[in-house]
Amino acid sequence: MIAENLLKLKNKIPEKVTLVVVSKTRSNDAVMEAYNVGQRIFGENRVPEMVEKQESLPGDIEWHFIGHLQTNKVKYLADFVSMIHSVDSFKVLKEINKRAKTADRVIDVLLQFHIAKEDSKYGLDADDLDFLDGESFAGMNHIRVCGVMGMATFTDDHAVVRSEFQKLRSIFDMLKAGKFSDAPAFREISMGMSGDYEIAIEEGSTMVRVGSEIFGPRD
Ligand SMILES: *Cc1c(COP(=O)(O)O)cnc(C)c1O
Repeated sequence: MIAENLLKLKNKIPEKVTLVVVSKTRSNDAVMEAYNVGQRIFGENRVPEMVEKQESLPGDIEWHFIGHLQTNKVKYLADFVSMIHSVDSFKVLKEINKRAKTADRVIDVLLQFHIAKEDSKYGLDADDLDFLDGESFAGMNHIRVCGVMGMATFTDDHAVVRSEFQKLRSIFDMLKAGKFSDAPAFREISMGMSGDYEIAIEEGSTMVRVGSEIFGPRD
């Protein structure tokens, strides 16, 4: 079923949209079913689980971290993570830069914005981006900011979801025209999950993060 669901989903999303298959809570066998039909990009939201999977699954998997990242956990993923979608503070960004430097890497990151009504969701606000203008940010040579990420409110109300995605899109456009106008790598808008990826794509998503639609409901 997993392979079939994945291929069906791939047919539904435009080729230019990157599919991050969210494998959190799924077994290695389940991940391999997706891997064996060509999927290489997987997303995890807990550091220990991602480290464990990375150690036991094929080395050509690109691991994307999509959950809230505590500063003291950055060191465990700095050696191998392919992209961190969930930078929600300057503090964690500084730590990623520091650990990437130690690992002799440049780590791709996205800035996560708070766009949902629920206050439980982590993220930056469009008006607390002063750090982007500081010297400290300018000197960070071991991170590459590739765009933005956000999660819409969990609701059946499509109008709410759409307006939240539009908000993320406008934050992206503002940064792309301003601070990141000379940064060709700044081009990703990570938005859309199983319940809302279609709306997200209509609103300009370049990366969708989908789990349940492929693997079934989580326990
Ligand atoms: C779990 C998760 C997803 C995927 O959710 P599904 O509804 O299973 O598709 C996407 N993004 C983040 C940040 C998640 O934690």
